[in-house]
Amino acid sequence: MEQIHPPANPQGIVDALRSCIKCGYNIKGLFAEGHCPECGTPVAQSLRGDLLQHAAGDYIKTILTGHSWVLNSILVSIILQIAGAFVGFSVGAAGGTAASREFTALAAFAALAVSVWGLLGYLKLTTPDPQFDGSSQPERARVIVRAVAYAQMGIRGMLAAFSAFSTPSAAMVLVLGGLNALAIVAFAIQFVAMMNYTRWLARRVPDAWIVRRAGMYRWLLPLVAVPGAILLMIGPLIALIMYWNLLDRMRKHLKSIVATGTPAALRGMAG
Ligand SMILES: [Zn+2]
Repeated sequence: MEQIHPPANPQGIVDALRSCIKCGYNIKGLFAEGHCPECGTPVAQSLRGDLLQHAAGDYIKTILTGHSWVLNSILVSIILQIAGAFVGFSVGAAGGTAASREFTALAAFAALAVSVWGLLGYLKLTTPDPQFDGSSQPERARVIVRAVAYAQMGIRGMLAAFSAFSTPSAAMVLVLGGLNALAIVAFAIQFVAMMNYTRWLARRVPDAWIVRRAGMYRWLLPLVAVPGAILLMIGPLIALIMYWNLLDRMRKHLKSIVATGTPAALRGMAG
């Protein structure tokens, strides 16, 4: 699975066709102890391959924090939604307009804070690995996840401001509906990019289970979520739990690499 043996001959010269992990320069014929003449990266680093367990400790910690923020913000947002439904019901039953407006504003800002927390998590978990240049990372997926995270912050901010400070009107219902639709489209785009990005990270564990699941989830989770949304909210919740479990498995590997230097031993990793 892992290439431990350096493809170097007894004279310590790289005799296999390999390229520099950072810049892609052909390192065949260089000393295994030497440095890339183009970018200065140690040749030994390129011979080790791109496994996460060989990546810089700070980089692993950053993407681990990103995964934790995304995962925890999803849990808190589910709790908030359930709590909000209960409180909203009792506020509505009491019939207090001032209290219910105050509650709506508070709920909108709590939802905003949690979604920004999760979106900052996406920015952290897509931090570029400093040992590569663009050609060795899934740049398109990474950039889409980040761009959508910024766009979502704007959409969420507007949603919170409108629902907290505007008076209810037909026009406002249209604006809020439009923003919500935009947020769903943005999430769908980010989701597909996130699955492609996760496949790349999982190959570096390596965990074939995550690679396979993330590939399948690109079409399976929308299929679970969309018809399910028409029948109650069960479909999106099931899809969210499946998404959560997949990212949590990636987090287990990152935690294990930080603690022990090697990925977690989980079922199905070899594929
Ligand atoms: Zn190089």
